[in-house]
Order: sequence, then structure tokens, then C-alpha cells
Amino acid sequence: MEYKVDALVLRTADYGESDKMLTLFSLQQGKISAAAKGVRKAGAKLRFAAQPFCFAEYVLAQKGERRTVVSAANTDGFYALREDIGKFYAAASLAGVCDAILLDGIVNEELFLRAANALREMCEGDEAEALISFLIKALELSGYMLDLAGCAECGAVLEGRVYFDIAGGCFYCADCARGAGVSESTMQVLRKCAGEEYDADKVTGDGKARALKLLNAYLRAKTETRVKSLEEYLDLLNGEMPRAAGN
Ligand SMILES: [Zn+2]
Repeated sequence: MEYKVDALVLRTADYGESDKMLTLFSLQQGKISAAAKGVRKAGAKLRFAAQPFCFAEYVLAQKGERRTVVSAANTDGFYALREDIGKFYAAASLAGVCDAILLDGIVNEELFLRAANALREMCEGDEAEALISFLIKALELSGYMLDLAGCAECGAVLEGRVYFDIAGGCFYCADCARGAGVSESTMQVLRKCAGEEYDADKVTGDGKARALKLLNAYLRAKTETRVKSLEEYLDLLNGEMPRAAGN
């Protein structure tokens, strides 16, 4: 049986002489794996379709549980992500988050469309902000909404120093203080990336790194999974060189 899916490559692993096993996030079938034969040979026609973050229409042949890529038509290779180390790690983080929160074969159209849009935004603009926006949405779609509207106790506007309770996913004002302290710039970055009103003067590079650290900790606490690429991207934002990327 052959059929078409629109899919993003989340992960690849070498196997055999020249083959790769792809973990795909497909619009129609959710997370699936498919073998790509011969794609490590120089000049292989489907080489592009076995690269991380490739977005293509794949024709798959299925026999039992096994799928093989028959052909692929490139939708967007997101090439800018391969030319900049920050963009590369931001995109790898997005792929890692999708891989961590998706269950095999469960369709999630909204997350798929958000992921494709976020990769496009990373190519064209600020990759850290695109990743933060995506993470907030991905967490919400997984049932872990971040409530940025006000203090979870008294409803006060979240200004100045605030607190984040990781267990509840709620923020508290300085008077109701519960959880770990969150800087003003972290809060303003989160508000901006969640599409809420924010103070542009307080959106800083440091705030973006801290916002990602908070989201990473929240994701780990809620899903009990570690996204290695996200931790590597955090290292990079903190001025440390991450070890060579996989793939
Ligand atoms: Zn309060």
C-alpha cells in the first residue's frame, strides 16, 4: 500500500550500509517512522528528504508496521537553519520537543502547523522568540497551559519581580510569592511570545535565555522527559559551545 503524507523530519538515525531511519511528524498520521534507503550515498536523489527539519510530501510504502520512503517532494528545506548555529539549535530544540511530547501515531494537526510555521519564523527572524512561542503553545496543547494573565492567588497584574510555581504552572505576585523567582525580563519575554501585551524595553537576550530555561524546567517537570537539544541550545545562549549536533 502506498500513500502520501506531509511531514517534518524530527530525527534521523543511520543504519545499514547507506540507509537512514527517519522519525517523521506527519500532518495526517502524527509521529511515524520510515526507512529511507540509500540516502547516505553521494548524489542520492532522496538525500534532502532525510535531513533534519526537512518539510516534504513523502510517498510511503507500507507493509505491516514497516514504512519505506518511495519518493518525496520538497515543501521547504528551511536551509537558513543549517547556516547559523543558533538557528540550527533552536530548530533542533523544536524537533526534540515534538519528539518528546508526541505519542506514536496520534494525529495533532495544530501542533504540526505550529511547528512548520515556527521553523519558517526561525529562518526569517528571531529564532529564540519563535522557539519560546512554539513551546508555550506546545505545552498548552499538551494540557499544560501557562497562565500569564495575573497572580494565581490574588489576581494582581504580574509586574516587577514575580514567582513561578512549577508544579501548578502558575505565576504569583511578590506579595503572594510561591515558587521560584522570575525576573522582569523573563516575564516580558514570555508575555511577548504568548501574544500578550508587553514592555518592549524589557525584552532582552538574557530574558529570552531565562524564559527558555523556565519552559525547559516546566516541560521536564510535566512530561518527565529531557530534551537534549533544548539543553544544548540553552548552553549556547549562555555562551558555552554545545557538543557537535547529532545527525
Ligand atoms: Zn498575588
